[in-house]
Amino acid sequence: MEKIKGNFDVAVIGGGPSGMMAAGRAAELGKKVVLLEKNESLGKKLLLTGKGRCNLTNAEFNLRKLVENYGKNGDFLYHPFSVFGVKEVIDFFEKMGLRTKIERGNRVFPKSDNSQDVLDVLKKYLVKNSVSIMYNSEIKSIGKEGRKIKKLILKNGEIEAEKYILCTGGKAFPGTGSTGDGFKFAKDLSHNITDLSPALVPIRIKEDFGKELQGLTLKNIGISVFQNRKKQFSEFGECLFAHFGLSGPIILEISKKVGGLLKQGEVELFLDLKPALDFEILDKRVQRDFQKYQKKLFKNSLDDLLPQKMIPFIIKMSGLEPDRKVDSITKEERHNLVRLLKGVKMTVAGLLGFEEAIVTSGGVSLKEIDSKTMKSNLIDNLFFAGEIIDVDGPTGGYNLQMCWSTGRLAGESAAKLS
Ligand SMILES: Cc1cc2nc3c(=O)[nH]c(=O)nc-3n(C[C@H](O)[C@H](O)[C@H](O)COP(=O)(O)OP(=O)(O)OC[C@H]3O[C@@H](n4cnc5c(N)ncnc54)[C@H](O)[C@@H]3O)c2cc1C
Repeated sequence: MEKIKGNFDVAVIGGGPSGMMAAGRAAELGKKVVLLEKNESLGKKLLLTGKGRCNLTNAEFNLRKLVENYGKNGDFLYHPFSVFGVKEVIDFFEKMGLRTKIERGNRVFPKSDNSQDVLDVLKKYLVKNSVSIMYNSEIKSIGKEGRKIKKLILKNGEIEAEKYILCTGGKAFPGTGSTGDGFKFAKDLSHNITDLSPALVPIRIKEDFGKELQGLTLKNIGISVFQNRKKQFSEFGECLFAHFGLSGPIILEISKKVGGLLKQGEVELFLDLKPALDFEILDKRVQRDFQKYQKKLFKNSLDDLLPQKMIPFIIKMSGLEPDRKVDSITKEERHNLVRLLKGVKMTVAGLLGFEEAIVTSGGVSLKEIDSKTMKSNLIDNLFFAGEIIDVDGPTGGYNLQMCWSTGRLAGESAAKLS
């Protein structure tokens, strides 16, 4: 097999956000770095982030609060965030010429609303620091000797370096190149991989309402999640109806907990279509509408209350005849309608898979990585960064922040540690 010449100090595997940051930083510190990417271009997934706008971090400057967003494994991030946190990330991009802005929920975006500009900054960082970029270079396996990696094996050659940083991402959105190769490599290198599951993912629903409601977005609804008739938790936000069930920010947000509950049994969702109004106030509101439309048919009385697309669905669910005269609806029937508006029941059939997921939950066990350096505790010249490790965050820029911080630290450690 041909050895690809270069005598590299550091080889970074995977040209996503974490890999580009790691490679750029190690090179900035004077090391000879090669970045290996199996695609024909860098940052394919990065370009899709934030619907093409790239929500690059979250302006949560309180370290403790920031860490809390990542759940039980968040503590691991204390050190990476204290070295290169939210402020440092924003400064990094601004200094490289990217103007940023903060939106609702502290989400940070490029002022241009264009993820390509974020990628361009990273490419500029790589070029400025003379990183050798090898495209179409899929690592097939990793050769090790004792506690050290010896070489990376490609289809048509081998690469050797002093240090290696594994930044191959997770298994979410595999069309972008993130097919989970790194989990196999890490396993071959004796690392443990915790259970992998799709996270921030749409939810499939058993009830067949897809065709009626498909495409409808409700900006502000409440969702209560029940198991064994007990309320587990609730959330507010924007929900999108799809042919398979539910998507949109609030759904992605609850999907991880719903996935956990599903392992224990059936999960029911109750959608509150009017979360700002309690039962009595909503009842008064419906009464007012019924008064206004008293001579009309029931099916024509809900226009002020609900989006057009929702009306036939709610009428069907209510069990009331659509052609009933409004003034013939009894108080009890109206109360049942109000109860329905405050809790449309849907039964979870499952979560969509990795194909549709934003991130992977699970990854290389944190017990086997030193959070001070991102170095493997098992292999002396191996470092990890990004989604491959067993931490994931909610939507809002948290996942990219994790990539920037761990990438930067891994690059720095690979450059500095002997
Ligand atoms: C649709 C979508 C929208 C998102 N929006 C946001 C958002 O707005 N904000 C946010 O914070 N997060 C967002 N995320 C999550 C974010 O994109 C990821 O957390 C992030 O891309 C992970 O970066 P990474 O560098 O760890 O891995 P990846 O981005 O997955 O990059 C890994 C790279 O490694 C390469 N690779 C894999 N195997 C090999 C191999 N064997 N040899 C060589 N190269 C290999 C892949 O081709 C890929 O380029 C979004 C995700 C998706 C899917």
